[in-house]
Amino acid sequence: MRMKRVAALAAAATLALGMAACGGDDDGGEGTGAGSKSFAAGTTMERLNKAQSIKIGTKFDQPGFGLKGLSGKPEGFDVEVAKIIVKELGIPEDKIEWVEAPSKVREDVIVNGTVDLVAATYTINDKRKERIAFAGPYYEAGQNILVKKDDTTITGPDSFKDGTKKVCSVTGSTPAEEIKKYVKDVATQLVLFDTYDKCKDALKGGQVDAVTTDNVILLGYIAKDEASFKLAGDNFTKEPYGIGVKKEDTEFRNFINDTLEKAFADGSWKKAWDDTAGKFGAELGSAPTVNRY
Ligand code: GLU
Repeated sequence: MRMKRVAALAAAATLALGMAACGGDDDGGEGTGAGSKSFAAGTTMERLNKAQSIKIGTKFDQPGFGLKGLSGKPEGFDVEVAKIIVKELGIPEDKIEWVEAPSKVREDVIVNGTVDLVAATYTINDKRKERIAFAGPYYEAGQNILVKKDDTTITGPDSFKDGTKKVCSVTGSTPAEEIKKYVKDVATQLVLFDTYDKCKDALKGGQVDAVTTDNVILLGYIAKDEASFKLAGDNFTKEPYGIGVKKEDTEFRNFINDTLEKAFADGSWKKAWDDTAGKFGAELGSAPTVNRY
């Protein structure tokens, strides 16, 4: 009897060891130890897992996506999606170093290795793909326009064609480029800052007549100050959000795509949305198809 129990315990221990050694698919949670995953030698996943730390570029000024508040840590949908990836890497959340990545610097911080990945309302496009690679998309936003609540003169991008209205956007962003198609005179009408909260303040202070960027970013500002702002009209572009990684790192890109697909299926992607930007009135929609180019 006693022998049988010892044998059974030994078998259970062997099984547990075997499971830990397999790695790659545990939840990195309590009991198993965050470092129990294993990845193919020489991959970015292995390097990060061994280091048990990761640097992530995100926004610090965008409510619902990446906003650094009193906690000192950014909060939002991009932050939650990044945390899902970090968990899959077997790295504890408190080992993430968050780096502010305004629109203009995103490719640079990936190329020069300041960060390991960027999750920052980052539209996938061919121009950016010349320097970096994208996993995803994990969400599709669209460009829109923020105006003062009592404004009746701006109803969409065509309202800038008469040359009288000033619109603010951010250097290095897709909306800053797109709006040039509509303004009569870029030099006098387009005001560029490095972050969207500066645009939002300029609108509130009356220095500009509108702010343009993705609808979900603007909805975040409306949610924080409903008495002051509203959207003017419908979305007029499609902005699929991707996770930026080094251009040549196909293994890491594939790993993130696999992780996103898993998160679409297991409810963690939806929960990330519901806990963050989903509170501000935008729709999540159905899970996008990741683009494994
Ligand atoms: N999604 C757009 C972009 O990647 C606008 C938002 C942003 O600047 O982060 O340029």
